[in-house]
Amino acid sequence: MLEMDKVDKAFGPVEVLRGFDLHLHYGEKVVIIGPSGSGKSTVLRCINRLEPIQGGTISFEGETLTARTNLCSLRAKIGMVFQRFNLFPHKTALENIIEAPLIVKKMARGDAEAIAGRLLEQVGLSDKRDSYPRELSGGQQQRVAIARALAMSPKIMLFDEPTSALDPELVGEVLQVMKELAADGMTMVVVTHEMGFAREVADRVIFMDQGTIVEEGPPQAIFEAPAHERTKSFLRRIR
Ligand code: ADP
Ligand code: MG
Repeated sequence: MLEMDKVDKAFGPVEVLRGFDLHLHYGEKVVIIGPSGSGKSTVLRCINRLEPIQGGTISFEGETLTARTNLCSLRAKIGMVFQRFNLFPHKTALENIIEAPLIVKKMARGDAEAIAGRLLEQVGLSDKRDSYPRELSGGQQQRVAIARALAMSPKIMLFDEPTSALDPELVGEVLQVMKELAADGMTMVVVTHEMGFAREVADRVIFMDQGTIVEEGPPQAIFEAPAHERTKSFLRRIR
């Protein structure tokens, strides 16, 4: 589904990704871990072309991304959820969810609302459809953000530390929605330090440091028997 080959990404003189490789199959769930500043968010941003790359190639569903790639149709297939929920503050939960289907897909309002209703049910927020973000807890806002991303029927979902900004007691409800999505077969790349989630959901865990993959493997292998000292010391610090 997705192939990143030898991707180089720099901000001016600062090299952030160096020869980064990531191949992803349909339905696969990958969790990326690594220290702050190691390039995790940049990987996600390169996938949907929020960042241009300086070297290497990225292909999505067999099509190599170039300057001529239609970004709008590419991004419609790639759902993204951020640490800060980034909901439109002046729109209700329902209005947040129908925005992209209405504007980007030119969907009829009734159809978009029907889809939004089902998605609100899926994330457990049917009773909050007319609430504004300020009336919702952080966990509820993040669940609306997930529903909003799903409203475009993406092929893949990218999550960038989706629970890092939440109070601890709200983390579980967001992870639960993500677990259900995984069980439904969604292809997912998740940057998170939630090791329980990684163990339960990830087919593969990637530990990256300074813009490269230090090691990767099944969660069991990475967590129980990391091969590299950098992985061991990182895991010691976050546990
Ligand atoms: P992580 O998500 O692992 O914490 P990031 O991908 O956000 O790491 O950042 C990797 C490196 O790239 C950091 O050194 C960061 O300062 C730098 N960086 C990220 N975005 C920008 C930007 N827009 N301009 C300049 N430097 C950036
Ligand atoms: Mg980040």
